[in-house]
Amino acid sequence: RKALVEVRDLKMHFPISGGLLRRQVGAVKAVDGVSFDIFEGETLGIVGESGCGKSTCGRAVLRLYDITEGSIKIDGTEIGTMGQGQLRRMRPKMQMVFQDPQACLNPRMTVAGIIAEPLDEHGKLSGKAKLDRVYELMDAVGLNRNFANRYPHAFSGGQRQRIGIARALALNPRFIVCDEPIAALDVSIQAQVVNLLEKLQDEFGLTYMFISHDLSMVKHIADRVAVMYLGKVVELAERDELYERPLHPYTEALMSAVPEPDPAIEAKVERIILRGDVPSPSNPPKGCNFSTRCPKVMDICRKLDPEYREARPGHFVACHLHDAGIMDNQTNAGSAG
Ligand code: SF4
Ligand code: MG
Repeated sequence: RKALVEVRDLKMHFPISGGLLRRQVGAVKAVDGVSFDIFEGETLGIVGESGCGKSTCGRAVLRLYDITEGSIKIDGTEIGTMGQGQLRRMRPKMQMVFQDPQACLNPRMTVAGIIAEPLDEHGKLSGKAKLDRVYELMDAVGLNRNFANRYPHAFSGGQRQRIGIARALALNPRFIVCDEPIAALDVSIQAQVVNLLEKLQDEFGLTYMFISHDLSMVKHIADRVAVMYLGKVVELAERDELYERPLHPYTEALMSAVPEPDPAIEAKVERIILRGDVPSPSNPPKGCNFSTRCPKVMDICRKLDPEYREARPGHFVACHLHDAGIMDNQTNAGSAG
């Protein structure tokens, strides 16, 4: 399979300044050395609790920030070090769908104007050709053409997200980061928007990075899933492999909290309750970032950061339980935690 997106050792640290001289006194390590590929045409789900760095990671991959370190290749082109001018030329290829469409839809512009804005910015199409393209996009996302001259406030949350999606599609992107695209919507509308994203993926051959804290939704839409904790990807695998055979204790805990619709199974699910809070990303623990909350923590975990490695074909994990050699004798250690 061809990787459309290749991310290596990506870091996004936000400086913290303090004192009278506003010197840098530290950094929030929102994303702290993550690596993954996204294959052409697939959906990579990114899960984790709020504050784990998922959204920052998505924005960094699209270079909405100047990144601190690392490499990002889109279709073989390095964009990690690109300046704004070059990035502008890459923008049509890579777009973002935001959690809150409200926030990114200008209330003083008509729907047609909003959807056409990226076309205007990049000097693509004008006059009738532009209007035809707007109609085509409205059709694709299931918006009635008759609403083209209305303003965003006249629409429901679900319809506004459709406007945001149409706008993201305007320049024929290949890669879209969807950041919690349904979290702000009524539950009854969520499935419609997810189905729409899936339909558009097939129709236009799109590649998605789908960020969500909703593990059931990610299980539905993702081909592969990466789990983030405190700025790092701690596990990544094919969807079924990850949900059925998680290797990382944090993933196990997340999975055990997913509601099970079948009451017979639900009765047997062992919930893993994590103690304590997520540590501050400006002061992560020594050794493994999860060591302060891990039910399976060992001595080595508090000293040494576990290496992110391929424990099974296509299944990556950063945990000393799965270091070569340690696995056999330590797997059950502390599991009663
Ligand atoms: Fe837990 Fe240690 Fe694995 Fe970290 S390295 S997840 S503390 S067992
Ligand atoms: Mg977030």
